[in-house]
Amino acid sequence: MMTRVDPIESLSAGRDRRDRAIVIGAGLGGLAAAMRLGAKGYRVTVIDRLDVPGGRGSAIRQDGHRFDLGPTIVTVPQLYRELWAACGRDFDKDVELRSLDPFYEIRWPDGTKFVAQQDTGKLRAEVAKLAPGDVAGFDKFLDDSARRYWFGFEDLGRRSMHRLLDLIKVLPTFARLRADRSVYAHAASRVKDEKLRMALSFHPLFIGGDPLHVTSMYILVAYLEKEFGVHYAMGGIAGMAEAMGRVINDQGGTLLMETEVDEIVIRDGVTTGVRLASGLEMGADVVVSNADAGHTYDRLLRNHKRRRWTSKRLARTRYSMSLFVWYFGTKGTRGDWQDVGHHTILNGPRYTGLLKDIFIRGKLCDDMSLYVHRPSVTDPGVAPEGDDSFYVLSPVPHLGHDNGVDWATEEPRYKEKMLKVLEDQLLPGLRDKISTEVVFTPETFRDRYLSPFGAGFSIEPRILQSAWFRPHNVSEEAKGLYLVGAGTHPGAGVPGVISTAEVLSQLVPDPEVVR
Ligand SMILES: Cc1cc2nc3c(=O)[nH]c(=O)nc-3n(C[C@H](O)[C@H](O)[C@H](O)COP(=O)(O)OP(=O)(O)OC[C@H]3O[C@@H](n4cnc5c(N)ncnc54)[C@H](O)[C@@H]3O)c2cc1C
Repeated sequence: MMTRVDPIESLSAGRDRRDRAIVIGAGLGGLAAAMRLGAKGYRVTVIDRLDVPGGRGSAIRQDGHRFDLGPTIVTVPQLYRELWAACGRDFDKDVELRSLDPFYEIRWPDGTKFVAQQDTGKLRAEVAKLAPGDVAGFDKFLDDSARRYWFGFEDLGRRSMHRLLDLIKVLPTFARLRADRSVYAHAASRVKDEKLRMALSFHPLFIGGDPLHVTSMYILVAYLEKEFGVHYAMGGIAGMAEAMGRVINDQGGTLLMETEVDEIVIRDGVTTGVRLASGLEMGADVVVSNADAGHTYDRLLRNHKRRRWTSKRLARTRYSMSLFVWYFGTKGTRGDWQDVGHHTILNGPRYTGLLKDIFIRGKLCDDMSLYVHRPSVTDPGVAPEGDDSFYVLSPVPHLGHDNGVDWATEEPRYKEKMLKVLEDQLLPGLRDKISTEVVFTPETFRDRYLSPFGAGFSIEPRILQSAWFRPHNVSEEAKGLYLVGAGTHPGAGVPGVISTAEVLSQLVPDPEVVR
């Protein structure tokens, strides 16, 4: 069980004389930040407005089902092991990761399939089935991906990029690796088949990137999946978030849930704490915001004169797309739909056209490409015996486009269209099997996570919104203020936000012990 504290008790914190750190937000980035600060010796309080930790990585329970709300694909497991080790703990004692192989299946309306998996020979055979002439290009793509992984993930992604010099130093490598080119353009330069181009370029959608505009550094995901595998955290990512909460408690930290921060308090340019929505002020030596970077600057620093992240600049910032997510349980279906595994990507008739509609034109379309999550095939505990738990996700425009969507009207219509696609192409007879459901629209993302424009993944990872151009992990607006999470460097996705906390730990000074 997580320790919940009374704000007043937390203010005095007994006889604990360690320097105090406050982390706003118990998303996975905020929890990782709290673990890192606790390991440094800070007395940490994590504050979140939700009733459970994990943010987008939390879960809801309904009618015997557990629905993981967000991340389902766990990659780069060494990142979590390193985080736990930094806290003197053994990750594998707290969280059970299950390797999935095949990783996922990609399907097209004409019945074609591509099965992504770890074995290079089998993967090549999949490519050959789709486009025999593209096997050599695919091999080159994998080599390209490895090079970008070692530079983009292991080097750039694990250190701060807050000084202009940090950027200048890496510009020649950016140029050599053609970081200006999009993921899709890179895939297209290596393979000719449109389906294969999709299979090699869709990954950035899981971190809010438009494959037609996201920097081609993100092709690194292909290598990362193949080299380190695709995993599922038993008990869901929410179970991992809870395990992080326990580490924080064991370090003497506290999680203050159902508590909203209204403002970051800055006096004479120095961050001195936070003011809660209740009006109560909590002091701290270090404040880390895991709230969306846009929300942090525009809302939590609204009374502070900002030099870089002004409201005007934030209004010009491009946000990731949003999501329509339908979570549902099905009754007595465990033996049904035998060919539907843990992860399926169900393409609609269009790829590049649909991306332009979602990201550029802000248009909600009749056609859709879906990601279908069926965790009950790996983790039967997510549903009552014999039943299945699913979620189906469709990328949709965020709420900031001129031609805004009225979700109150659109939600039932869109869900009906989704149901038709699912019944026709993947789960025949689904309508009669649904026993419970929950729907998240872009408005849910806005209201639940205080995500600007209801974006699914914060600031879009375009080249001019990445690395030095992204909100820095150490704020230039006030001394003692730091940022972690999807909207900061290196960016969204579970590995991304865990890395933001690693970068943070390099920036925050060691605490002083008050005597
Ligand atoms: C549907 C979906 C599927 C995804 N799938 C994957 C996947 O398979 N693999 C992967 O790697 N990534 C995936 N992602 C991305 C990944 O989940 C996110 O990038 C990551 O979890 C974001 O973490 P974060 O640290 O930025 O915090 P968030 O999860 O955004 O949490 C921020 C927290 O701050 C709190 N907060 C905000 N403002 C305040 C305030 N003023 N006061 C108090 N609390 C506040 C919020 O309540 C929230 O809990 C997915 C995301 C979604 C939405």
